[in-house]
Amino acid sequence: MKDTLTVSARTRVPVLLPLPLAGAYDYAVPASMALRPGEFVSVPLNQREVVGVVWDPPAEPEPNPVPDRRLRPVSAVLPAPPMTANLRRFIDWVAAYTLSPPGAVLRMAMSMPAALEAPTPQAGWILAPPGGNSRPRITPERQRVLDAMRPGQVYAGAPLAEAAKVSLGVLRGMAENGLIRPALLPHRSRFSRPDPEHPGPALAADQAEAGAALRAQVTARAFGVTLLTGVTGSGKTEVYLDAVAECLRQGRQALVLLPEIALSAQWLERFKARFGVAPALWHSEVTSRTRRDTWRAVAEGDAPVVVGARSALFLPFPDLGLIVVDEEHETAFKQEDGVVYHARDMAVVRARLSRAACILVSATPSLESLTNVEMGRYAALHLPQRHGGATLPAVEVIDLRRTPPERGRFLAPPLAEAVTATIERGEQAMLFLNRRGYAPLTLCRHCGHRLRCPNCTAWLVEHRAQRRLQCHHCGHAEAPPAECPECGTANSLTAVGPGVERVLEEAAALWPDARRLVMASDTLPGPAAAAEAARAIQDREVDLIIGTQIVAKGWHFPHLTLVGVVDADLGLAGGDLRAAERTVQLLHQVAGRAGRAEAPGRVLLQSFSPDHPVMRALVSGDLDAFMQEEAAMRRPGHWPPFGRLAALIVSSEEEREADRTARDLGLAAPGGEGVQVLGPAPAPLALLRGRHRRRLLLKTRRDIAVQPILREWLARVPVPNHVRVQVDVDPVGF
Ligand code: ADP
Ligand code: ZN
Repeated sequence: MKDTLTVSARTRVPVLLPLPLAGAYDYAVPASMALRPGEFVSVPLNQREVVGVVWDPPAEPEPNPVPDRRLRPVSAVLPAPPMTANLRRFIDWVAAYTLSPPGAVLRMAMSMPAALEAPTPQAGWILAPPGGNSRPRITPERQRVLDAMRPGQVYAGAPLAEAAKVSLGVLRGMAENGLIRPALLPHRSRFSRPDPEHPGPALAADQAEAGAALRAQVTARAFGVTLLTGVTGSGKTEVYLDAVAECLRQGRQALVLLPEIALSAQWLERFKARFGVAPALWHSEVTSRTRRDTWRAVAEGDAPVVVGARSALFLPFPDLGLIVVDEEHETAFKQEDGVVYHARDMAVVRARLSRAACILVSATPSLESLTNVEMGRYAALHLPQRHGGATLPAVEVIDLRRTPPERGRFLAPPLAEAVTATIERGEQAMLFLNRRGYAPLTLCRHCGHRLRCPNCTAWLVEHRAQRRLQCHHCGHAEAPPAECPECGTANSLTAVGPGVERVLEEAAALWPDARRLVMASDTLPGPAAAAEAARAIQDREVDLIIGTQIVAKGWHFPHLTLVGVVDADLGLAGGDLRAAERTVQLLHQVAGRAGRAEAPGRVLLQSFSPDHPVMRALVSGDLDAFMQEEAAMRRPGHWPPFGRLAALIVSSEEEREADRTARDLGLAAPGGEGVQVLGPAPAPLALLRGRHRRRLLLKTRRDIAVQPILREWLARVPVPNHVRVQVDVDPVGF
């Protein structure tokens, strides 16, 4: 469907609204209007006006269309760059793949509502495209206006009226009659063009080779995916920035997706050093004013490079030439609320629709991407060594069965000694524990009662500094009770297990003179705090860093030489298919923070199971072998990525309702060759935010698409109003 296709002869158009409705609604086209697919329009819906997008006519006519005379008319065309066919196709694709209402997906692409809210001061007038169904009367006054305007140019109202010697009312009348329409006035973009010729660092031989391959892919102006791997610190970022430079030379736009943009201060500095200017940013924390400007700049091609979180995939790029997904293995790319989608996978789709290159980057690639390389679907590039001769850190396991910490402590003697030695040498050490707060569990010593969240299947986590018990799933918080709520015994509640706050307490006792810094999402709220922490570490104002998973993200700390993992077994519990893969990725990334400059790094893993394949992989550093074992385990049972999975999460505030619908779905389960349904069973977090959750898993062979099966299945089972069935295609945590 071409954008230029006018639907002038049409008396009705489908308009997709950013609401979770079944699909586009038909509206009547006023005689004076010519509408093309992609245009933003304002339409009546019940008692209000809603902004939507003229969608493409359906491939086949609807069987029972609403008769023309009952349609309500489009109210106005809005002054905004029309949505490209490419983005409309992407929205349709994501909706179909995730089984979401297209309007819910459209909403993600319309996260700039302020730009579209009826007449703005930014709006002027432009000649309307010809093709309306009626011929409005042309008075001499109107003729003077038409003579004063050139096609495609936007005129501010007052000067135009003055030039044509008419009143502003004449312009409004002409707009009502479809002769002119509102359009955004040209503005000066706030984004400077990154300069691709700005001198970057000279690339080492292997880097240059990889860079050349990526540049060639960008120059080809065709769709292709490359998986760029290489050890932490090997220069992957430098290399893909080279591809971004090539994309700029081609005059096309580039998008870089980062898993946690709020933690990306160092990355942004490097971008600036490489290109002379900052890129446009897109994530949930940018102000609505900036969002509006950025959205418009992207639509008009004035933001050549956008760096963003997963939602940036839905920006209106007119000519996207490259998408980079950095840290492609990260689960942060999966959106779990509303439209459930994986930004890495959807990036590949958007690149295909845009005829763009796509580069997936990681030191610890996902088995999904590795398998796509093996099947020949993706190309692969590898950087084998750290830049500048830095070596990879030596990884050792501390067997907690043999050298346990003292009672009530969490750091075993060998780890404590290593930290002491590191600090004494004037180097930096890091203690990693993927758990916020003081203690993950509070227990009554008298009766054994455990404090749990009233809304979730989860223990309350003590945050001692704030004197709160918190649920990390629903946000429930309460003051620590003085006595056990179960047996009433006073002072019987005791903290069990460590969180980072408790490790900090131990560190303060062991190294009272060391300068300590906690890096966790609740101690570093927001980009500025994270950037300041990174600066303090780089400038050696810190001796000991204690952090949760946010320390695993791409940081470059040249003076950090020791990393201690307090509980290396933490991620291995539970039945998640990818628990081992995740743990290897996370701990390898954490380990990769050590020894990135001249001084060699050392990593100590505290574990009760030193012989676990995960520990062996981390010690040997041979992640390839580990991933091959993972593949060998998943392949025979057709587990992803060798088969497909989709989850149905049935939830209700009434436990019995959830059970009943889950059972009905189970009774109506699809079957047949290569198709299997597991469950219903309690979902992980069987109670979440007060809703009881049950899960059914649809598992198919890889050559069988799950969407048609899911659609038929869901159509067979009535779902009561207060029960929700959420579809999760390619679930990540199960
Ligand atoms: P990765 O993305 O693989 O972890 P980076 O691109 O972050 O690696 O590189 C690690 C460090 O080495 C960074 O500080 C980077 O600036 C530096 N570096 C990498 N390649 C070069 C190069 N060719 N010249 C100078 N510095 C480089
Ligand atoms: Zn909760």
